[in-house]
Amino acid sequence: MGLSDFVGNERIVNALRGALRAERVPHALLFTGPSGVGKYTLARMFAQAATCERMKDDFCGECDTCKRVALLADPTSLVREGLAERGESADAAMVERTPLILQTHPDVWAVVPDPVRLKTPVVRPMLRVGQIRAVQRAAYFQPMGRRRVFILDGADTMRWDVANVFLKILEEPPASATLILIAPSPYSLLPTIVSRCMQFHFAPLPQADVERILKEKTDRKGAEITLAAQLAEGSPGLAMEMDVELTAQRRKDALRILTRAAQGQGFAQLFADTAAMAKDRETTFERQLEIFYGLLTDLLELSAKIKNPMLRNKPLAKELEALSKIVDAAWVMRAIAGVDELHAGARRNLNRQLGLDALAASLAMNG
Ligand SMILES: [Zn+2]
Repeated sequence: MGLSDFVGNERIVNALRGALRAERVPHALLFTGPSGVGKYTLARMFAQAATCERMKDDFCGECDTCKRVALLADPTSLVREGLAERGESADAAMVERTPLILQTHPDVWAVVPDPVRLKTPVVRPMLRVGQIRAVQRAAYFQPMGRRRVFILDGADTMRWDVANVFLKILEEPPASATLILIAPSPYSLLPTIVSRCMQFHFAPLPQADVERILKEKTDRKGAEITLAAQLAEGSPGLAMEMDVELTAQRRKDALRILTRAAQGQGFAQLFADTAAMAKDRETTFERQLEIFYGLLTDLLELSAKIKNPMLRNKPLAKELEALSKIVDAAWVMRAIAGVDELHAGARRNLNRQLGLDALAASLAMNG
């Protein structure tokens, strides 16, 4: 057991191990990349390697510290315990006074966006000022062992005033603590935070790696493994949780919206489709936009007439090819710019339906 068990993004694993070996561990790391590629998992494994009682640049998985930090692998059940302890009907002051901190060993904390309630979690769980203040106080304590590690998952959910509190920690970095921020992209954080972190961008995994992980960790079989790995676009985390049929359907729905817009006809149906998509509250807006990005990336390859394109949406190859014949690269670029705008809007709580309607309408006008 150790860092070599981590699948994918080997370059990042090697860089982290090198830093541990040379005893030059940065005070702040920033892990970015799509969801489900192992950013949290590697942060937890790094925390084990930074605190293991037996090894310096890896972890044994057997010492008491390793075993306790390993419990952070399942944050969901720890969040459930934390919320149960605080009480289902905590008010805002209580939420800040009793910050949700996941801790299975004194030297390693995981801080995740606080969903506040167990039964009906808030729509947008976020890292709260109480949590960040708790990290701020604890970061300057001497570690029990070699180092303290604070994992901040969903760092992009910090409100900007909370981010400023966090910035203070980075401005006076504690001597023997490492903070690991996890976010989808550096653009979702204050530039002043990003510039103080050593940044590692996680790439999606090759399909064969995703399939290998699915074989090891799930009961899925043959064709279902292949399809799930295809649909997950290099994200084993997504592939594991995925409802394959539903995911395939969501892509078809998104492709139908693009196709109708490109054809510039059937507006009533086009807006009925965007309305249906806006109502799907089980898929986050960001996830829906990622589906559009995936389709548009494929379209870009097809409309650029690249030989043997590596399509992300192989099961939809026929439909994508048909669509690529009625749009040009400029249309696709405009569509991507439109999705970029919605992505920025999603952070500001842009109304989903208005956003999708505006995108579909602008593509139809210019089709
Ligand atoms: Zn150990």
